[in-house]
Amino acid sequence: MKKYNFNAGPSMLPREVIENTAKQILDFNGSGLSLAEISHRAKDFQPVVDEAVALIKELLNVPEGYSVLFLGGGASLEFCMIPYNFLNKKAAYLNTGVWSKKAIKEAKLFGEVVEVASSAEANFTYIPKGWTCPTDVDYLHVTTNNTIYGTEIRKDYDVPVRMIADMSSDIFSRPVDVAKYDCIYAGAQKNLSMAGVTIIIVKDDALGKVERTIPTMLDYRTHIDKGSMFNTPPVVPIYTALENLRWIKKMGGVEAMDKLAVERAAIIYDEIDRNKLFRGTVNAEDRSVMNLCFVMNPEYAELEKEFMEFATSQGMVGIKGHRSVGGFRASCYNAQTIEGAQALVKCMKEFEAKH
Ligand SMILES: *Cc1c(COP(=O)(O)O)cnc(C)c1O
Repeated sequence: MKKYNFNAGPSMLPREVIENTAKQILDFNGSGLSLAEISHRAKDFQPVVDEAVALIKELLNVPEGYSVLFLGGGASLEFCMIPYNFLNKKAAYLNTGVWSKKAIKEAKLFGEVVEVASSAEANFTYIPKGWTCPTDVDYLHVTTNNTIYGTEIRKDYDVPVRMIADMSSDIFSRPVDVAKYDCIYAGAQKNLSMAGVTIIIVKDDALGKVERTIPTMLDYRTHIDKGSMFNTPPVVPIYTALENLRWIKKMGGVEAMDKLAVERAAIIYDEIDRNKLFRGTVNAEDRSVMNLCFVMNPEYAELEKEFMEFATSQGMVGIKGHRSVGGFRASCYNAQTIEGAQALVKCMKEFEAKH
């Protein structure tokens, strides 16, 4: 039976991206060696990094003066690298969920943290509005998509300071005004590649302004100087990222991904709103088009397990909600198809008809 992959991360990638990576793992560029066996300093690997960097800059329209890096450690390591490199005295953070909280916890090791707003009191079911950002901070940190709670900030804020964003779960799903950010980071395993690589887009002249000494590996300048080759970068995940970037470009770039995401999400949200068994978990205007969270309506709460089993029997994979929300979560990253969204809706309709 056909499987529809709604995993939150690691997650679905376009089939051709997987197939092309598989081919290179067997025989990299006709060299007779596997992509997994070659040195990152091999002369045919440098073009992979160069093309991936160029595509990231092209797709997101990155202005002059920014570097693109491929690092290990996941987005979680960035929670500490960001304040290490950018926080001198004080930074502002918008608290919209588990990932923001983790970023805040690390930042507090380096200086004062001002939480400009938080939706913690409502289990992060909305994006706080109407807050003001202090002007005497080194940066404002935002988590643009809250993978666990299913809320999203699908725009670039106008604030009086430079921004830093964790875009792990929505990068390349919409155009971004990169010029507003000193740094954008994303663990690749949600919307770009397999697990193992983090992409960083960093403004060169925003670095070198903190007074502390930064350990070599945690200093972005080390990696800028060495073109992400200071130590061994994750070669295979970088290659997969390149294939996916080529795919995004071929599909029409981030504008096309944006349109597709909005259309795909509307198919599922419309059904969540129509179907008597289900309801959405977050404020409608803050709904993520990447991670769509829903639960059983209270009067049908006892059907949760049965729907899970039914959906699984119909080929749906990974729709169980995160334990802090419960219910269901359909993650619809770039590779998710309209057909996938329709298949989930069909399941929901058929299940409703049975009850
Ligand atoms: C998954 C996720 C992370 C953590 O990523 P790792 O690569 O596992 O460290 C951080 N932020 C957001 C928004 C995420 O979705």
